[in-house]
Amino acid sequence: MQGRIIKVAGPLIVAENMADCMLYDVVNVGEKNLIGEIIELRGDKASIQVYEETAGLCVGDAVYSTGEPLSVELAPGLIEGIFDGIQRPLTTLVKQYGDRITRGIKVNNLDHEKTWNFVATKKVGDKVSAGDELGYVDETEVVRHKITVPFGVQGVISSIESGLFNIEQTIAVISDNGEDKKVCMLRKWPVRKARPYKEKMPPSMPMITGQRVIDTLFPVAKGGCAAVPGPFGSGKTVVQHQLAKWADAKIIVYVGCGERGNEMTDVLNEFPELKDPTTGYPLMKRTILIANTSDMPVAAREASIYTGITIAEYFRDMGLDVAIMADSTSRWAEALREMSGRLEEMPGDEGYPAYLSSRLAEFYERAGIVKVLGSEDLTGSITAIGAVSPPGGDLSEPVSQATLRIVRVFWGLSASLAYKRHFPAIDWLVSYSLYADKLGAWFKENVGADYNELRAFVMRVLQEEAELEEIVRLVGMDALSYKERMTMECAKIIREDYLHQNAFHEIDTYTSLNKQYKILKLIYEFYRLGNIAIDNYAELDEILSSKAKERIGRAKYIEEGEIEQLDVILREMNVELKKIAEAGESDV
Ligand code: ADP
Ligand code: MG
Repeated sequence: MQGRIIKVAGPLIVAENMADCMLYDVVNVGEKNLIGEIIELRGDKASIQVYEETAGLCVGDAVYSTGEPLSVELAPGLIEGIFDGIQRPLTTLVKQYGDRITRGIKVNNLDHEKTWNFVATKKVGDKVSAGDELGYVDETEVVRHKITVPFGVQGVISSIESGLFNIEQTIAVISDNGEDKKVCMLRKWPVRKARPYKEKMPPSMPMITGQRVIDTLFPVAKGGCAAVPGPFGSGKTVVQHQLAKWADAKIIVYVGCGERGNEMTDVLNEFPELKDPTTGYPLMKRTILIANTSDMPVAAREASIYTGITIAEYFRDMGLDVAIMADSTSRWAEALREMSGRLEEMPGDEGYPAYLSSRLAEFYERAGIVKVLGSEDLTGSITAIGAVSPPGGDLSEPVSQATLRIVRVFWGLSASLAYKRHFPAIDWLVSYSLYADKLGAWFKENVGADYNELRAFVMRVLQEEAELEEIVRLVGMDALSYKERMTMECAKIIREDYLHQNAFHEIDTYTSLNKQYKILKLIYEFYRLGNIAIDNYAELDEILSSKAKERIGRAKYIEEGEIEQLDVILREMNVELKKIAEAGESDV
C-alpha cells in the first residue's frame, strides 16, 4: 500500500491513499525513507509528523506504512546508551556519519550483533508466565539486566541455555499446549502505551536525593512525581542533574528535551567522569540518555518523553527503582503546540492544544510504585521529575498549571533567590510536597524518632522569619525582642548553612540523611539552648558569637565518613551555651 504526499508543512506532511493505515503507525516518507508517525487520519488522508528534517520532500513523493506503531527496542545495550527522541543511537550515528547526521539512515536502535553473556536461572520443565525471570545479563558492573518472559507468552520451558547470545538469538523455547515459542532477549514496545503491571501501590518511602532542601523539607516519594518550575537561569537543569547523579534510584533515564545542545554536551562529558557514591563506578553505568535538543527536529521531541518513560517501565518491570528526568517539559509542550498548529486544530489556552493536560497526565501517570508481573512478587518504581520553564517565570501559564494539577511535589525555583546566589533556589515559602506527611513514618523509623519535629521546626522558623521581616521592614530590627532576633538568626542559619547547597562543591554536593539529621539537630539545639540562655538574661551577642554557631556554619563540609564529629559539636555546644546561660543569670 503506497500513499502520496499532497502537502508539506515543516515537520508535518499530509498524504492521501492512506485508508488502510492505523493512527500512530510509523511510515517511511519519500526517497530517503524519513521516519514519520501518523497523528491524524481523515478518510484516506493521513497527517504525519516526520521525525527528521523535511526539506526536499515534494508533493507526489511516496509514503509507505510499516503497519507498526512507534516502538522502542528493549534489551541489553540500553544502559550507557545515548539516543535521540525516537531511540536512534546518537553515539553510533555520530561515529558512523559524523556530527551532521544525515537523514533517512537505517540503523537498529540497539546493537543487534553484540553478544551478551546470558545466564539462565530457569531450567527445562519449569512452568513460566509473562514477567517471570528466565535469566539475566550483567550488562554493566552495576546493572543486572533481567530477561523475562514476554507479555502474552506462558507455558513450559522446553529448552534454555546459558552462553553468549546477541539479542536476536533464541535463548529459550517455551511450549504452550504443543505450540513452541522461541524467545530472544529483544523486546519491542509501542512508546505511547503503558506497560502492564499487577497493581499500583501507594508511595510509602522517599527517594533520597542528598539535596537537603528536598529531602528535609519537600521530599519526593519513590514512585512519585515532582515538578521543578522556574525562570531561565534559576537552576532547573542543575537540580535535574543533581538528582540524576545522587538520587537513590538504580536506573536513571535522563531526557534532555528541547533545551540547548551544550547542556546535553555537559551531561555527556560529565556523567562518564562522575563516580556513583554507592557503587564507585561511573554514573553512566546505570544511566540512559535521551537527547532531543533545540537544534534537533521538533517532532522527535514530542516522542522523546514517551520513549524515555517506556524504557523506564522496562527496567521497573525487572523490580528496579527508576528515576526519569525530563528537562524541560515546557519545550516538549511547545513541540506539541507546533504540531497542533500545523494540524490546524482548534487552539486552547495560549495556543496549546486542548489535550495538553491529558498528554502531560499520560506521561506522569506512568510513574508510580507497582507490583510487577511475574510470580516473584517484586516491586518496581518510577519516580518522574519534570522541569518546567514558564516564560518570565509566570506560573499561571498553561503548562505550569496543567503540571501542578498532576504532580504532588512542587519545587518552585525563585529568580530572586537565584539572583542572590542562594542555590538550590527552591523557595521554601511556596514549595510543597504532598508526600511529606505520608513519608513521616518512614523518616521517623529510619532516620530519627524526632526527625519530623525537626522538619516542623525548620518550617516554623522560616515562616516566622517571613513575618518578622515585615516588621523589620516597617520599624527596624530594634523593634524585635531578643527572642525574635534569635528566631531571625536561626532562620539565617537554616537558609545559609543548611538549605543553601553548592552542587559543585566536592562534599557539599551530597548530604546523607543521617548527616542531614545531625545538622538539623545542631541547629535545633542551638535554637533551644539559645532561648534558654535568653530567658536567663544572657546577652544575645554572646550567643551569636559562640564557637558553636561558627561550627554549625561549617558542619555541611564535614565528610560523610567523619560525621561523628557532629556529635562532638553537639556535646560541646551544650556545654558552651549552658555556660553562657549561667553567666547571664549571675550577672543579674
Ligand atoms: P535553568 O536550567 O533554570 O535555566 P541552570 O540549572 O542552568 O538554570 O542554572 C543556572 C546557573 O545557576 C548554573 O550554571 C550555576 O552556575 C548556578 N546554579 C544553579 N544551581 C546551583 C547549585 N545547586 N549550586 C551552585 N550553583 C548553582
Ligand atoms: Mg536549563
